[in-house]
Amino acid sequence: MEKPLSIKLHKLLLSEFPNSSQNLAKFARSGKYLRLKKHYRIYRDANDDLHIGFCDDIFLNGRNLLSIACGDFQTFAYSNCQMQDVTEWFMREYKEKGMCAYTDMRHEWDMNEPDEDIGAGSTRVCIYCGKKEMMKATVVRKTWWEESKL
Ligand SMILES: [Zn+2]
Repeated sequence: MEKPLSIKLHKLLLSEFPNSSQNLAKFARSGKYLRLKKHYRIYRDANDDLHIGFCDDIFLNGRNLLSIACGDFQTFAYSNCQMQDVTEWFMREYKEKGMCAYTDMRHEWDMNEPDEDIGAGSTRVCIYCGKKEMMKATVVRKTWWEESKL
């Protein structure tokens, strides 16, 4: 029999792999999580923010995923449980990309050029998620008043 999704999520959060989150693992080991591990899921709200927690009929009991990932394990009961359950999607993304699945702050950039050659047009690729970026530059026009000698 296949294990329930919440159990697979718990196992994934506990596992260590490239770019996995120590804080998510720590939260998954906490008493708060262990007591109710069969119920924890990942939800997406209307603003595209991810939350980890569980829904009863009225409340989402949990926290914004980024707060948990930053080590703040305080959880709340939100009165709106209209969030979308994205646990399966999250597990695929997190397994493949680690923390890059939910934040732009944890990319590990592989630069294609040596440091001294980096400038507009240079590219970089994240070794974990494959995100590519190109450096852009713009000239900012500056204006000011200066005494006229005429
Ligand atoms: Zn990345």
